[in-house]
Amino acid sequence: MKQQKIAILGAGPSGLAQLRAFEAARRAGVENLPEIVCYEKQNDIGGMWNYTWRTGLDKNGEPVHGSMYRYLWSNGPKECLEFADYSFDEHFGRAIPSYPPRAVLKDYIMGRIDKQAISKYIRFECPVRWVAYDESSKMFTVTVMNHKTGLQETDEFDYVVVATGHFSTPNMPYFKGLELFPGRVLHAHDFRDALEFADQNVLLVGASYSAEDIGSQCYKYGAKSVTISYRSNPIGFDWPEGMEERPLLTHVEGNIGHFSDGSTKQFDSIVMCTGYLFHFPFLPDALRLQTNNCLYPDSLYKGIFFQPNPKLIYLGMQDQYYTFNMFDAQAWYARDVIMGKIALPEAEDRLKDMQPWLERHEQLSNCNESIDFQGSYIRDLLAPTDYPEFAVEEQAELFKQWLRHKQENIMAFRENTYASTVTGTMATQLPTTWLDIKGDSLESFMSLDFIESNSLDKFD
Ligand SMILES: Cc1cc2nc3c(=O)[nH]c(=O)nc-3n(C[C@H](O)[C@H](O)[C@H](O)COP(=O)(O)OP(=O)(O)OC[C@H]3O[C@@H](n4cnc5c(N)ncnc54)[C@H](O)[C@@H]3O)c2cc1C
Repeated sequence: MKQQKIAILGAGPSGLAQLRAFEAARRAGVENLPEIVCYEKQNDIGGMWNYTWRTGLDKNGEPVHGSMYRYLWSNGPKECLEFADYSFDEHFGRAIPSYPPRAVLKDYIMGRIDKQAISKYIRFECPVRWVAYDESSKMFTVTVMNHKTGLQETDEFDYVVVATGHFSTPNMPYFKGLELFPGRVLHAHDFRDALEFADQNVLLVGASYSAEDIGSQCYKYGAKSVTISYRSNPIGFDWPEGMEERPLLTHVEGNIGHFSDGSTKQFDSIVMCTGYLFHFPFLPDALRLQTNNCLYPDSLYKGIFFQPNPKLIYLGMQDQYYTFNMFDAQAWYARDVIMGKIALPEAEDRLKDMQPWLERHEQLSNCNESIDFQGSYIRDLLAPTDYPEFAVEEQAELFKQWLRHKQENIMAFRENTYASTVTGTMATQLPTTWLDIKGDSLESFMSLDFIESNSLDKFD
C-alpha cells in the first residue's frame, strides 16, 4: 500500500495535537504511518501561546500571528484544560492555583511535547501560500514560502489539516471620526501591555472575552477609567469603580466618544475588542471554511472534515470553552479516519449525522447549554478512539462554576480553586488577591507562597 502523505498547516496547540496523535500511534507500534510535514509560519511551536512584542508584521514581513499580551492569565480554570495523559501534578510536582499566567500554562503545554520527536516534522518560517486540489489525482498541492531559503516550495499531499487558528486576523470596525481621534486606536490583536494605558481614559468597543479581560487588565494596571461599549447587551458584571458599560459608540468627535444613549465621554485611547475573522488567504473558495465564531460550523462533519471535500481537515475551528483536550479529541479522530480505523461515511450520511447537532446548536440559549453542547461533541469524538478517558462532564461542571464565580466578582474570580478531574488534587490558593499580583513570569508565579486550599479563609 502506498504511504500516505499529510500536510499539517500550523504548529499551535491544534497542529501539535495532530502531530502527537500520529506520534502516539508510532510509539504503539502502528505500521504504515503516513509521512507528515507540518508547515509553521513562526520560528517556534506553540501558536497563540508564544508571546510576541511585535505587532503588524513579523521579521519576514508576514502578519504577526500572536494576539496574547503581557500579564495575561488563564481566562478559565486550568482544571478544564488538563490533559488526561499528562497532569499538572506530573508537570509541576506540586499543586498550583487554578488560574495561572500564560507563561505557566505554556510551560505545561510544552512539557508534554517531546520536542525532539516532533520537531523533525516541522518546517519553521514556512507560511503556506496556496493549497489546490486536483480532482483527477485526488491530491492536494501545497505551496509555501520558505523564509529560511528565500524560495517557494511545492509538495503534494493526500490530506491537508488546517490548524492555523482563528483568533489572529482582526475584525476592525469603523466609526465616524476615528481618523481624527488624537489618541491611539488599536485592535485587541495589537494590545500588548496594559501599562501603556495607565492614567488614561480607555474606551473598549465590544462585549466579549477580549473587552472583559483587556478592561480588567487596564483597571489592574492603573487606567484612570475603563468604558466598555456594547452593541446588543452589556456584559453585566458588577464592575469596580472606574469601570462602566455604555451602549454602542456612534461616532467620535475629536477625543469625545458619542454613545447611542446620547451620552459622551472624553477618551485617550480606543481598543476595538471586536473579534476576529476566519481568514484563510491560502485557500481557494472551494476549500475555504466560511463561518462565524460558533460551536458547530455548518460545513464540518464531526466538526473536523470539510463536507465538500473531507480530505481537507480543520482542527480547532469552533468557539472554545474546551481547548487543548478538545483539539486532542479532534486530532485522534482525524488520525483514525486517515488511517482507515474509522470509516468516513458518504456525503449524505455525513449530513445526516450533522443535522441533529446543527439543530441542537440552533436551540442553544445560554452558556450552560453551550458548555454541555461542546462536552457532548467531545464525547462523540472520543467514543471510537483510544484517546485516554477524561472527565468531560465533570469539566463541564467546572466551567459552569467558573461562570458563576465571574458573575460573583469579575476582579476576583481567578482566586477560586478547583479539584483536578485527572488526579483529584485540589488547587492551591494565591497568597493575595489577583489584583495585587502584578508579575506574570513563570519564575515569579512559581515563587509565590501558595496556600493549601481550605486551610485558611481567603486572605485572612
Ligand atoms: C487573547 C487570547 C487569550 C486566550 N486565552 C486562552 C486561555 O486562557 N485558555 C485557553 O485554553 N485558550 C485561550 N485562548 C484560545 C487559544 O487560541 C487556544 O488556546 C489555542 O491557542 C488555539 O490553538 P490553535 O492551534 O487552534 O491556534 P493557534 O494557537 O492560533 O495556532 C495556529 C498556528 O498556525 C500558524 N499559522 C497561521 N497561519 C499560517 C500559515 N499561513 N502558514 C503556516 N502556519 C500558519 C500560526 O503561526 C500558529 O502557530 C486565547 C486566545 C486569545 C487570542
